[in-house]
Formats: sequence, C-alpha cells, structure tokens
Amino acid sequence: MKVTVLTGGVGGARFLRGVVDVLHPGDVTAVVNVGDDVEVLGLAVSPDVDSVVYALAGLADEERGWGRADETWNALDSAAAFGGESWFRLGDRDVGLHLVRTQALRAGEPLSAVTARLAAAAGIETAVLPATDDRLRTWIETPSGTFSFQEWFVARGHRDPVKRVRFEGSADARPAPGVLDALLEADAILIAPSNPFVSIGPILAVERIRRALERRRVTAIAVSPLIGGRAVKGPAADMLRRLQGGTTPAHVGESYSGLIDALVFDEADAAGTDAVSALGVRPIVTHTLMRDGASRRRLAEAALDAVAVA
Ligand code: GDP
Ligand code: CA
Repeated sequence: MKVTVLTGGVGGARFLRGVVDVLHPGDVTAVVNVGDDVEVLGLAVSPDVDSVVYALAGLADEERGWGRADETWNALDSAAAFGGESWFRLGDRDVGLHLVRTQALRAGEPLSAVTARLAAAAGIETAVLPATDDRLRTWIETPSGTFSFQEWFVARGHRDPVKRVRFEGSADARPAPGVLDALLEADAILIAPSNPFVSIGPILAVERIRRALERRRVTAIAVSPLIGGRAVKGPAADMLRRLQGGTTPAHVGESYSGLIDALVFDEADAAGTDAVSALGVRPIVTHTLMRDGASRRRLAEAALDAVAVA
C-alpha cells in the first residue's frame, strides 16, 4: 500500500515514524509544511522539514522534542557573544544542515531538490517533499499585532491569542514536484496529528493541493492532535477554541471539512463520537498518545485499518 502523509514538524514526524515502521518506508511520501520556514543568521531554516528528516533518520532528540540528539550550542553562543540574534535555537549539528540548504538555495536549487538530497544523504527511503518550492509564509494576527510564525511561536512563546492565520504567497504557490502525483497515486491519504491551522493549514493553502484532496478517489484519514480536549504540546487546543469554537473531535473534523473520510481520536474524547459521525466522517476511537515505538506503530495501524474498511 502506498500512502501520502500531510505533516507538520514534531507531532507529525512522530506519527510518520509509526507509518514507515508499519509499511515499507519507500511506499510512504511525506508532504511537509513550509509555512514555518525562517531565515536565522542568514541561514535558511525549514523547521518542519528538518523535524521529519531528523525523525526518519533516527537523529532526532526525543527528550527535547525538537532538533538533533547529542546537540551542542557553541555556534549560537558565539554568535550571541558577537551581538548576533539568538532567539531561535540552532544547534551546532543542526547548523551543518542549514549551511548545505542555504548554499543550495542561493545557487538556485529548489527547496524540494535540496531536501531530496539531504534526505538521501541521511539514508531516508521515504520521499520527503516540501508542500511547495514557492515562498509561502504563515503570519499570525493577534490583538498585539501581526507576527511572522516563528516570532509569534518562538520569540513570543505563542502567548498572544490568535485572531486569524494568514498564508503569505499561497495564492501563487504551486505544489512542489511530486506532490500532486503522490496525492493522486496514493492508496490512502493521511493527515498527521499536527496542528490543523499552522502545520496542515499552510499545506492546504496551496490551492491545487486542497483541490486534489477535495477530489480524492481514495480514503483520507486525519489523526487528531488533541487528547482529552488538550494538545499534547503547543497551541492547537487554544487555536481550535478560538478559530473553530471548541476542542471536541468534531471541531477537529470541521477544520478538515470536505477533505477527510475518517478521523482518529483518543478514547478520552469518546463522548464526541456521534458528533463526528454527524459530519459524515467515520470516527475511529483509540489510544493516540505516541510514547514510544510501539504506541507510534499502533496509532499508524489504527489509521491504516480505516483504509481497509472505509
Ligand atoms: P510542529 O510543527 O513541530 O509544531 O509539530 P506538529 O504540528 O506536527 O505537531 C504538533 C501537534 O502534535 C500538537 O498539537 C500536539 O498536540 C500533537 N501531538 C504531539 N504528540 C502527540 C501524540 O503523541 N499524540 C497525538 N494525538 N498528538 C500529538
Ligand atoms: Ca511547525
């Protein structure tokens, strides 16, 4: 079975590891958010692409939850000592990847091409595709002003309530090479338990990607990022409350209106099952906390079981 997974960074990457464990890694394609991309100290950083690459290559720091294992911070400390910006944490090992990417982009190589090279160098068989090679950036409107995604998320600690999310460049953004084919040729489409607004939202803001999902001929299954109405980490619950009116599985399902056939959510949210059915979406209730390899695989299996049944 060939599967295409729409994903953000850390939460999505965890799920993706489960999916590639259950299937053959070469039968999986990851379509990754680029709305978080940011330039730091002159370096082109793609945090969600990097989280996916590090996770699939077994290089991720599982305790910290982002970045690379065995990381040190000398370059950033030195930059700060010389008066450089240090609000965005870049580790020494991580910087190596950003140097390669930045050089390639400056030389005119598309993000998808350099990402494929990085993934191959890391020994990854799964196709890792940025949603678009075009510039697409997430902006967050709050009562205190409008901020770029990373300024809101990292520098301001995602404390400002979100009034609206905007995707700069989405009107002109084309799917990166391979993305539409991956959606058309897949036997199933999965949406990882990533933040619906700021991780999956920017992917779906690419018109032709959204249309491919709307016109899908295969089952599309989303996994909720909420457990007991709360995010495992990050602002997803706050955003669902403000932008979708609540944190039940049906609210998660509504954020993917017309795009999914089934929604996997946690037993802690089982009270919301009927409301999901009422949306015309098949509810799949299971344990969704990914603590280790076994729980990641179980969640991937629960989502893939829905393909067979739907
Ligand atoms: P980011 O781009 O690094 O912020 O990561 P994602 O958007 O891909 O993932 C963030 C989301 O993952 C958060 O909303 C979390 O609630 C969710 N998440 C993280 N770990 C788990 C887990 O074990 N189970 C579920 N269901 N969601 C998770
Ligand atoms: Ca992200």
